[in-house]
Amino acid sequence: MNSVFNTVMREHGRQSVLGGAAMALKKAYNAAKSDCAEHLTKILGPDDPLPAGFLQKTKSEEVIMCICGLHVEEGLMVQCGGAKCGVWQHARCMRVADTRAPHYCHHCRPHQVDREIPLDDYTEDGHQFYLSLMRGDLQVRQGDTVYVLRDIPIDDKHPDVSQKNGDKTDSPKTKRIERKKLKNIGKGKSEDAAQNKDGEVRKHTYQTIGEIAVSELDIFRVERLWKHKQTQERYVYGHHYLRPHETFHEPTRKFFHNEVMRVPLYEAVPIELVMSQCWVMDLNTYCKGRPVGASEQHVYICELRVDRTARLFTKVSRPKYPICTKPYAFDTFPHRLKATRTYAPHEVSPEYLKPRGKSAAPAEKNKITSNKDTKKKITPLAVADSSKVN
Ligand SMILES: [Zn+2]
Ligand SMILES: [Zn+2]
Repeated sequence: MNSVFNTVMREHGRQSVLGGAAMALKKAYNAAKSDCAEHLTKILGPDDPLPAGFLQKTKSEEVIMCICGLHVEEGLMVQCGGAKCGVWQHARCMRVADTRAPHYCHHCRPHQVDREIPLDDYTEDGHQFYLSLMRGDLQVRQGDTVYVLRDIPIDDKHPDVSQKNGDKTDSPKTKRIERKKLKNIGKGKSEDAAQNKDGEVRKHTYQTIGEIAVSELDIFRVERLWKHKQTQERYVYGHHYLRPHETFHEPTRKFFHNEVMRVPLYEAVPIELVMSQCWVMDLNTYCKGRPVGASEQHVYICELRVDRTARLFTKVSRPKYPICTKPYAFDTFPHRLKATRTYAPHEVSPEYLKPRGKSAAPAEKNKITSNKDTKKKITPLAVADSSKVN
């Protein structure tokens, strides 16, 4: 019945007389079904449940709250039997083997849930992909945007602070794994070899760095996660975003104060370099509201992407990981936000426009350094969009 109504609505459009009538009929039909559902359940008894899909889940009652963080129906779904709860979860994520047995979500019946959710998918080298993996107590999920630590050697300037934090002394420190640069490996190799000759240079992880400003961290979109089949090392794979000052642009160009640009620099990063979650939103959704739980200082707008050289700006056609705007996952603003580009990282400076300026003024120095940083960063990481996962 529902598909008949849906077809009519699709063929004639919801605004048409026929489509409108189909919509009204569908509503009445589903309301009648849910009205008699309780009665039918009594008649059938506990051993004979109503057929799956008998009750059309309407937008207001269908709440998908799973440990994977995805608010989409996928595969077998199980509903929580908790009083006044009734959220839906993925049977696979919750590891429900018997879908007929009563199920309770992780809120109603707090129990040990394994938040590392394996996928039936493997890298070319046979490492298993995951929907989400744990970095300590932080769950990193496919599609998340996160802050990632850059390569910072442990030295006097950046000492290992993990010993000072009493709470962390007994947790074993994860070995820092060398970042995998997916291309230009030939170039990077000699550098790595040199480092290894002088003894291993220890680099910081989330456990050793201590407090660090987010401006010092890279913004990264997690597209895939996997665990090494032998060493069990966890990796996140995805692409970077660049902040305005990390791109090459005309000095007059203006940005949103929290704008970032998608850049096709793909990298596999040890999960120990993931610091915390942040939120990168398309402009339209950004003006509409915020994902539940997002903290404003870690929310960014992405409307543009740049090429690998960070010079050519184009509009992102459609966000690859759209943010769920269902009411239970998204706080909609009462009034739509107005965002304007007023931020100019560089004031117009003729000196900057010269290819090789003389000694820069103090204010200029910063800017030039940051661009150099970008260049340095881009060179070893530059990887084409199409490159394969190791
Ligand atoms: Zn799930
Ligand atoms: Zn529940």
